[in-house]
Amino acid sequence: MKDEAIEIYLASANPHKIKELQQLADDAGVWVNLRPASDLGGMPEVVEDAGTFHGNARKKARVLRGLAPPDAWVMADDSGICVDALSGAPGVESAYFAGPEGDDKANLQKLVQAMSAVPTGERGAHYLCLLLIIDGEDREHAFEGKCEGQLAFEPVGQGGFGYDPLFIPTGYSETFGVLSAQIKQVHSHRANAWTQVCNWIRQR
Ligand code: IMP
Repeated sequence: MKDEAIEIYLASANPHKIKELQQLADDAGVWVNLRPASDLGGMPEVVEDAGTFHGNARKKARVLRGLAPPDAWVMADDSGICVDALSGAPGVESAYFAGPEGDDKANLQKLVQAMSAVPTGERGAHYLCLLLIIDGEDREHAFEGKCEGQLAFEPVGQGGFGYDPLFIPTGYSETFGVLSAQIKQVHSHRANAWTQVCNWIRQR
């Protein structure tokens, strides 16, 4: 059965991302086989300087497209956290908020500081994930997933990664650092964007 599945190469070196997305597709009954960039020799380094989530995802997808067989599908993602009180920052700069080293801990601490004087009720934020697919006929399709929430005043919990110990998703009173991986899997920006992809593939 899986022989008839659409094969999509993912512009990522992160095996957890592939596993997570494959699981969601399988649960939704959508026939896709996600393949790691390592099957094409590895994901080359891409400078994420396009200035938008869409532009960065497109850059990554185009680089992988150059390595893939002519009719293969490829997909790349770019994501980050956008904070209302900071006019959407760190946004596309989320990975490098505190400096070019891309240090998760320093980024988190910088956000804590930047938000320290912002009162409850004005601490809204959302994670955003842009998934860009290039299909076998070289057409591009973009899908944007969001996860809305609020920022805590201090990091709580060890779960997730990045800004998760500060982020309280809407409908919950604890951060993604405390909530289970299963809850994050259901509500995350990535899952939201990927669900849109799965629905789109199902309707094709
Ligand atoms: P990437 O697009 O997966 O490389 O993520 C870019 C940056 O956004 C990461 O380095 C994190 O700082 C932040 N980020 C993206 N998704 C998440 C998430 O699910 N939890 C926490 N931080 C995230």
